[in-house]
Amino acid sequence: MRETITFDDVLLEPQYSTIKSRKEVNLSSILGSKICSEVETNATNTATNTRLVERAIKYNIPIISSPMTTVTEEWMAMTMFNAGGLGIIHRYNTIENQARMVKSTAGHQIQKTGEAPIVAASIGATGDYLERAQELIKNGAGILCLDVAHGHHENVRVALTRLRETFTNVHLMAGNVATLMAFKDLENWGADSVRCGVGGGSICSTRLRTGHGVPTLQSVFDCASVARSAKVIADGGLKTSGDIVKALAAGADFVMLGSMLAGTNDTPGEIYEENGQQVKSYVGMASSEAQMAWRGHVSVSEGIAATVPYKGKTEDIIKKIVGGIRSGLSYTGARHLDELRAKARFIKQSPCSQRESDTHILYR
Ligand code: IMP
Repeated sequence: MRETITFDDVLLEPQYSTIKSRKEVNLSSILGSKICSEVETNATNTATNTRLVERAIKYNIPIISSPMTTVTEEWMAMTMFNAGGLGIIHRYNTIENQARMVKSTAGHQIQKTGEAPIVAASIGATGDYLERAQELIKNGAGILCLDVAHGHHENVRVALTRLRETFTNVHLMAGNVATLMAFKDLENWGADSVRCGVGGGSICSTRLRTGHGVPTLQSVFDCASVARSAKVIADGGLKTSGDIVKALAAGADFVMLGSMLAGTNDTPGEIYEENGQQVKSYVGMASSEAQMAWRGHVSVSEGIAATVPYKGKTEDIIKKIVGGIRSGLSYTGARHLDELRAKARFIKQSPCSQRESDTHILYR
């Protein structure tokens, strides 16, 4: 039986660094490219022609917010774009509602660049997924996320192949997978990026319920270990900016966050009081609560509904996370993500080291 590791099992050895300011660290990452039509203009700025150009889907920070009902709708998507990352609008509503959210997000401009964002939205692998995909694209989506708990599945093979044949010009993200074989299969079926991590989410009970899963950092190591065209997205179980640095050092191109962004002002849902504290809901999409809300019945529950403290402005939380990631690269002496991956030296932690790594001041 092979041994596997996850975030708390490892640390990164600090290395000689010449980085004097966190501003020197570049966190940009490329998700893929997309063919767009661009209008050619003449000297008087009058449109003369349109031509097809390849536009890199490039982000200034390697962070994606999860397509969950208590994480990403249009407000979170916009804030993520403005912060330099990506938000994926969830699929747990009617096609009309999701398409409306996509349309209103696509209508915004990123303040910093003046560009329209490439909007991302999730779909399922059965039922109305093709009709949903068509409607989302019609309303401005350029990235579709095929969002399935067990992505290494016949339904995903059929859906992904069909989507790839139908929509040649859209970035297809798919998942979730735990193994390299699954990653390669999804890549071969047409995925441009793959969410790696099964059973690690903070609100997930898949491993308890089914006995299946792979520690998320191990999945990232495995999936990023070979030559590939699809991008690796580390998804599930990231608790701190330190975990994000470990995932990126292990080969992830992006991380996907649920709980680290849950409870901020841009997540859907009300702020309410629980035991004298302001909280918001954070709900696993396979929990009984979520299933009742979006399809009116529960099959097997593989998640829980939780509350998290209200955290205030999303952009402040993202700033803190990004600050931690920049510091992390500086400790390895890396100015960008490729350098981090090339230089990173992982070491294993003992249980005593894990205790030492957590804050542990003794109060008398
Ligand atoms: P977190 O960042 O640790 O909170 O994990 C978020 C991730 O958990 C999501 O991006 C999904 O991949 C996964 N997830 C969301 N809902 C559920 C669920 O109900 N059960 C299992 N996994 C879930």
